[in-house]
Amino acid sequence: MADYEPGDYVEVQTKKGVFRGVLLPTSQFSDRNVVLLKLDNGYNVGIVPDQIRVLRKGTQKKKIKKSVPAPNPNLPTVSILGTGGTIASYVDYRTGAVHPALSAEDFAYAVPEIRNEANIRARLIFNILSEDMKPEYWIKIAHAIKEESERSEGIVIPHGTDTMTYTAAALSFMFPKLSVPVVLVGSQRSSDRPSSDAYINLLSAVRVAKSDLGEVAVVMHATSNDDVCHIHRGTRVRKMHTSRRDAFKSINSAPIGVVGEELKFTEEYVKKSDETVLVPSLDEKVSLIYYYPGMPVSVFERMLEGMHGAIIMGTGLGHVASDFVPAVKKAVKDGVIIGMASQCLYGQVNLNVYSTGRELKNAGVIPLGDMLPEVAYVKLMWLLGNYDEEEVKRLLPENLRGELASRRVLQ
Ligand code: GLU
Repeated sequence: MADYEPGDYVEVQTKKGVFRGVLLPTSQFSDRNVVLLKLDNGYNVGIVPDQIRVLRKGTQKKKIKKSVPAPNPNLPTVSILGTGGTIASYVDYRTGAVHPALSAEDFAYAVPEIRNEANIRARLIFNILSEDMKPEYWIKIAHAIKEESERSEGIVIPHGTDTMTYTAAALSFMFPKLSVPVVLVGSQRSSDRPSSDAYINLLSAVRVAKSDLGEVAVVMHATSNDDVCHIHRGTRVRKMHTSRRDAFKSINSAPIGVVGEELKFTEEYVKKSDETVLVPSLDEKVSLIYYYPGMPVSVFERMLEGMHGAIIMGTGLGHVASDFVPAVKKAVKDGVIIGMASQCLYGQVNLNVYSTGRELKNAGVIPLGDMLPEVAYVKLMWLLGNYDEEEVKRLLPENLRGELASRRVLQ
């Protein structure tokens, strides 16, 4: 065991020289080889140590007692249900250390302004990186939302950004009716960095959770300025950049609103219903297949094996190589429901223009208009989990939760 611990004043020797400062605790997002140091000048640095020497043991080990003010009867109650990711961490402003936010107190301390917006109820459902998300966790989140919808006026779900939009789509389909806004929020830069977006995103998400929205939304930075966030429909949004704070964009549609000091819906949106209805079943036997030139038919066939459904991300208007057609025909004959979305993301699938498209359509492939491929994948799982085959085929190209530009896809 190391003879130094967070809180100790240490001297660290590195290849780049000697540093002195207070050792900070690391979080699950920290590189294992790096130690975090709060330097005498107040800056935090992450450095790879050759040797660490304790100059002074840390004295203050006592946990600072945090408290939230008594509930304000004039404010609505908002539930924050943490699932993990960078946003679920908060900075301890005394030490600069990053901790997972576990309680209402943690959130209230991380973003003190939210205390002026709402009475906060908070808990972690789980604490994972969103690349580890699974359909069974979507169902867990959905049950937590249903429970919380009976106790609060709005729900905020802090979530890792990588797969946040899959979760948003899954929740959109699982809740045909919502009596509360459900707002997913993340951050691209952790809250220990000066450029962090966590603060504005979380505060904006709480503001949206107080509105009369009755659908699932994603709230993230609108631009690279730290002033306003966009409110995206849960079935229309995609992460379009690896690191920019304004990485989230509504595709094939405009965001439904903007939130800064003020909240403004700029597009039509679904208003709160008087009940929350949860239809949580999902059939996980669905593939999402990205076609590429040179993809062997055998690879495609293997991805369909044992599946009840598949979404193909085809090229352009919705194509795969013409020698895939017999394999597609066979799968459809065996009862696999196959939908076609486009790798282009922008624009509509149209299987009526080129011969390959027409052949795929004749083979039974269902064109999915401008539906995002990931949204189509989650939708097909949800449909297969709750409807019979004929209904699934009928509903897949219909607009159920704003996932399409028009009411239904032109066949
Ligand atoms: N890959 C992590 C996730 O999506 C990064 C942290 C974050 O984006 O919040 O959870």
